[in-house]
Formats: sequence, structure tokens, C-alpha cells
Amino acid sequence: MTAIRNIVILTGAGISAESGLRTFRAEDGLWEDHRVEDVATPEAFRRDPELVQRFYDERRAGVLAARPNPAHEALARLDREWDGELLIVTQNIDDLHERAGAARVLHMHGEALSVWCLACDARHHWEGALLDGPPCPSCGQAALRPDIVWFGEMPYRMEEIFRAISRADMFVSIGTSGAVYPAAGFVQQASSHRARTLELNLEPSQGSHWFEETRLGAASVLVPEWVEEVLGD
Ligand code: NAD
Repeated sequence: MTAIRNIVILTGAGISAESGLRTFRAEDGLWEDHRVEDVATPEAFRRDPELVQRFYDERRAGVLAARPNPAHEALARLDREWDGELLIVTQNIDDLHERAGAARVLHMHGEALSVWCLACDARHHWEGALLDGPPCPSCGQAALRPDIVWFGEMPYRMEEIFRAISRADMFVSIGTSGAVYPAAGFVQQASSHRARTLELNLEPSQGSHWFEETRLGAASVLVPEWVEEVLGD
């Protein structure tokens, strides 16, 4: 392997599947028994806020009960031991990368354990429920929503992500179906900047043909193997 210095890693729901968190696009096209349009869009929140709050209250409880698996732990080790630039861009709303010990993590689709006040714009760490309309700790109004980027909303920190990809000489995608843009397009951007591209996934994703190499298998096996390889080089 020629020397690599700057690494960008994109993770998706597949890296947390073995921690017991269900992926987004199971075979039935439902996420935790709901259609995406009913729970993960701003229109859904306007139409039926109780359903959406209940849905994310359940996701928040699920995240709190889950534990990092060997894939999260391997990336945390890479983060600790890698001297070059490294950024873990996750589409996941869980905090399993951080709980495994990774520090260089960016949540482009928001976080289950964060809430956003629509009255005063403050964000707060939150572990409880929102269904009963608790007051915002900053302004006291009952205007808290999950701090999640829903379909139709702009992902967070895109400039930072594009800057990191433009400097990367290795781009690795882990456990993501390549169906949700803009994340699905990162591999093309990385290739255009001559980064090596590697996909680790249970099955070929929609964007597999964009990667130089695809390795198929469970994240808990493939990710520790890859990290060993990179750190051993
Ligand atoms: P997705 O469900 O569309 O795709 C998951 C991919 O992971 C699939 O290609 C599947 O083959 C693969 N996979 C499943 N189990 C795996 C395993 N054990 N090892 C390796 N790969 C495995 O998920 P996505 O691409 O992340 O979809 C994007 C959206 O899903 C994001 O917006 C994200 O916020 C949301 N989401 C997040 C969580 C979470 O935070 N844990 C859970 C569900 C959905």
C-alpha cells in the first residue's frame, strides 16, 4: 500500500446493526415499522407531531440501551493512533462512535441525544422523552424537536466534510446503502481528488461500482481487519 496520510470514513446504519439498532432500509422498506415519509420529514412533523415525537423517543431509548461493537471500537483505536488527518463522517444518529472512544466524529444527519428548540434555536443534550412537551432549558417554551436532519432538510457541516474529502488520500465507506444523497456522492468526490476508495458492507451497495475495492461481510469483522492493516503498514 502506498503511504496514506489523510483518511475520511463514512459510516451508515450497517455499522450499528450488530449493536442491535435496526438499519434504515430493511427488506420491507420500513424503518422500525414506519414508512420514512410518516416519521422522518418536516411535513410529517407538522402533520402528526405526536407520532414523530413518539418515534424519536423510542429511537433515543434504543440508542441509550445499545453498546458499541468491535467495528466502532476499531475505528476509535484508529482515531487514537492515527497521526494524520482523520474524520469519521456518520449518517447515524446514535452516539456509538463516541462511546467507543472516537473523538474526530461528525454527525451529518443530527443526533438522537440532542434536541433543538424551534423558539430560541438552542440545542441541548437530551436523554428523556419529548412527547409530553417539556420546556426548553434555555427559553422555557415547549418547542423542542429532535435534532435530526429529516428528508428534505440540509445535512450539517457539509463544507467541513467536502474540505476533508478534498484533502483525503483514502476514503472508506462502511455499512451504508449508498441510497441517500449527498452522502452517496462522497465517493465520487473522493475519486476525483485521487483518493483510494474502499467499501466495507454486508452486500454490494447501490454505489459499489464507484469504489476501487469492495469487501463484503459483517462490519464487526471487516472493520477491525482493515484497521489492523492500516495501522500495521
Ligand atoms: P441503510 O439502512 O440504507 O443501509 C445500511 C447498509 O448497511 C446496507 O447496505 C446493509 O447491507 C449494510 N449492513 C447491514 N448490516 C451490516 C453489518 N452487520 N455490517 C456491515 N454492513 C451492514 O442505512 P444508511 O445508508 O445509513 O441510510 C442512511 C440513513 O439511515 C441515515 O440518514 C441515518 O441517519 C439513518 N439511520 C441511522 C441509524 C442509526 O443511527 N443507528 C439507524 C437506522 C437508520
